[in-house]
Amino acid sequence: MSSTTPTHKTITPLQDIESEIDDQWGSILNLFDDLRNVIQPSPDEKLVQTTTDDDIKKLRALAAPSSALPLMGVVKEAYKIFDFRMRTNHPMFFGFVPSNATSLAWLGDVLVSAFNTHVGGHIAGSGPSTVETELIEWLASRIYFPPSSGGIFVSGGSVANLMAIIVASDQILQQTDRSGGVIYISDQAHYSLAKMARILGFSEKNVRRIASDSRFRMQSQDLEHQIKQDRERGLKPFLIIGSYGCTETGAIDPIKELADIARGQDMWLHVDGAFGASATLSYSRPQLAKELSHAHSVSWDAHKWLFQTYGCGMLLVHDKAKLASTFRVKSDFIDHSGRVNGNAAEFWDLGIELTRPSRAMSLWFTLRVLGIERIGKMIDIGIDFTETMQHALEQLSDWEIVAPATLAILNFRYNPGNKTNEDLNNINARISEALADYNDAAIFTVQLRGKTALRMCCINTKLVDEDIANLVTFLNQTVAGLDAHCGTHD
Ligand SMILES: *Cc1c(COP(=O)(O)O)cnc(C)c1O
Repeated sequence: MSSTTPTHKTITPLQDIESEIDDQWGSILNLFDDLRNVIQPSPDEKLVQTTTDDDIKKLRALAAPSSALPLMGVVKEAYKIFDFRMRTNHPMFFGFVPSNATSLAWLGDVLVSAFNTHVGGHIAGSGPSTVETELIEWLASRIYFPPSSGGIFVSGGSVANLMAIIVASDQILQQTDRSGGVIYISDQAHYSLAKMARILGFSEKNVRRIASDSRFRMQSQDLEHQIKQDRERGLKPFLIIGSYGCTETGAIDPIKELADIARGQDMWLHVDGAFGASATLSYSRPQLAKELSHAHSVSWDAHKWLFQTYGCGMLLVHDKAKLASTFRVKSDFIDHSGRVNGNAAEFWDLGIELTRPSRAMSLWFTLRVLGIERIGKMIDIGIDFTETMQHALEQLSDWEIVAPATLAILNFRYNPGNKTNEDLNNINARISEALADYNDAAIFTVQLRGKTALRMCCINTKLVDEDIANLVTFLNQTVAGLDAHCGTHD
């Protein structure tokens, strides 16, 4: 509390808190120094900090407000609360896709939240709105979308996928056709697609899962066959959703083939590139960008492989007018008070939100500082690292590649050749647990066609080649440790 409060003047709560912030300003500046370390955890920090029942009890006691507390004391409480988390920025964290926001992203966020601009439309934030439109157009041009294209920043891939399904059904289905509308995804597609379809009233039987091939890519012949069968049954196939970078394997569906089928069948092709679309900005592999041009719409998360904080994603469409034709609703309130550019679509016409933060400005900050070449090379780190890691494992007889390096994702398992699949599944699950227990690395398991695989997503920009030798040592030591403790059981 401020000690300078005069006794005979009314002090508003705002003045009260502002003077406390003034008093504490030195500590607040130090806090900025410290938060920089939070963004870049040291290797000895615990990778996975989970809660015990006792921890939960203590955390619950911190949740609700009580009487006023000193500002820096509450900062300490925040540290205590945030301590219970996975260090997704840790150099040895390979667990999820989203990870590794850089200090640049954090600085960009500081700017965005200090200015706190409403970017529902140009009226409240003409500067950031103009930059959002231009940045979206630039990103669309990088995937060879036509000049008619456009899009919008959203909270993430799930919402982008939701919007794409809405636009596709508006474009292709008649109102009366909806119950017979069919969506096609591969058996490797992200779960958000079936979830969003369900939210929109398409049940399980409106969603076909097409089998993937040995490289986990949708089989286009099966797709074509299924569409034909569904038409014969009187159903209305309207949407094919390909994946550009499946979450589990990094697999890329044959987008051009899916596009040809979609075109021939008057269907919409959406591509879920939430994880993988960033690879189109790769410096060393420019050919990756071509594929996406065939889609009608693309989901693209910046909080994954463009190193942003959550939640920063995008939906891009080849024809911006189609977004507006779905999301623009006539409203006297908005039309009279808000529209700066006459009939031009504002962001509230292009998506779900009205009040929205300037997510574009966070990404803009990172991209502007890094420049095209550096961001491309930061993306390359992951692709190169995964390929080198695969090569290193292939030199060892006890390790099997379950799904090869694709877009910075690699799946492998320990397999000395003399064990049943069930035993291997148990052993590999234990390897994952032991790696985390020893704080060596966070590598989690996925199930791929009955095999428990160790899955690495390597988009951390701190990775260097020497880490591969360390990882191989950790893996071999972990196996030796398990053998020593448990022996092999038959
Ligand atoms: C992460 C991901 C999603 C979901 O995106 P969120 O940003 O988590 O909502 C969808 N599809 C794929 C392929 C993803 O990797």
